[in-house]
Amino acid sequence: MVELRYDPRICRECQTIDCLTKCRHLDFDLDSARQERENILQGKPSRILQDCLTCYACEEYCPYGNHPFYLLVERQEQLGWWPAPKPITKQQILMMAPKGKIVKEQVQAPVINLCYFPMLKDTIRGRLFEGCSSIVGSDIFCNIMWLHFAKNSVIKERVPKVIDTIWRYYLEPNQVREMVCFHDECFGTYTHLAPAFGMEVPFKPIHLFEFLTRRLVSLKDHIRPLGLKAAYQRPCSNRLSPETQPWVDEIFQRIGVERVEREYDGENALCCGAILRAQQREEVADDLQKRNIQDMKAAGATICVFNCPFCLFTLGEMVAQQGLMPILMSELCHFALGEGKIMGR
Ligand code: SF4
Ligand code: SF4
Repeated sequence: MVELRYDPRICRECQTIDCLTKCRHLDFDLDSARQERENILQGKPSRILQDCLTCYACEEYCPYGNHPFYLLVERQEQLGWWPAPKPITKQQILMMAPKGKIVKEQVQAPVINLCYFPMLKDTIRGRLFEGCSSIVGSDIFCNIMWLHFAKNSVIKERVPKVIDTIWRYYLEPNQVREMVCFHDECFGTYTHLAPAFGMEVPFKPIHLFEFLTRRLVSLKDHIRPLGLKAAYQRPCSNRLSPETQPWVDEIFQRIGVERVEREYDGENALCCGAILRAQQREEVADDLQKRNIQDMKAAGATICVFNCPFCLFTLGEMVAQQGLMPILMSELCHFALGEGKIMGR
């Protein structure tokens, strides 16, 4: 049965309420956090339902894996709260529905899942992705973004079908057992969200950064260290798989890039602002983006590295206007392998 698995007893015995006391956007002390946690558990209204910026971070903060953010979204939907205007939400849900036009495709391992981003196809090239197949389209769209729109119901309905489509139409007929997730959203969906809702995943999801690291190891003799200072824009969906963070440092170290120390990185990362704009929280988005980019500059970064295409679309031009070059992690690896050219070098 597809239902959120969480244990209210764990929350009631929890002494620290990290999910709320660590939240960077809502101001809770321990007592108010305990009260609001209880309201959420009992399905009562809580100010969190309307003030939450849907940054996913509390999923990372809970030391017991008890899914505070998924539960919050569940309650938002049950109590009829719409973080984004109703017409926008309804239109997006319709627009991004699976089209059902799947044909069995011949693929070979490694298979790279590009989710709903056909524009990423161009990055699957060169020695880095030699021998890879890629899959893309609405029928394999991971659908996790509905967390931002208080629509767990759409996730529960669509994600099992997406998992089935990937397995039955692409992987199983070609005897492929692993799938590389280009986007953190997909990796988070299949490794974190699916088990939280009791969905079975018959394939093994691999994070893009693990794949890139493996390739860089085998291509080590071709790497030309880049000697750049990078700010890393951690995407919200990476909160669901914080264990993948060390891969960022591993990749940077292998290609001669320094990850600058800055305030808004790691657990303290800031949302790119894309979803906040969809939710019409313009002032909050302006503030987060301004602080984030100032922090990158102050730390001495000359490039801003992204993994999430949405973050790149949202912040790319803004960081460029501030003199930082925006770039996807995979493109940066191509450059280190001498394939392509970084501006001004
Ligand atoms: S979700 Fe986690 S951190 Fe929050 S109260 Fe429950 S157990 Fe504690
Ligand atoms: S999703 Fe982010 S803003 Fe919302 S309660 Fe969790 S940590 Fe706070």
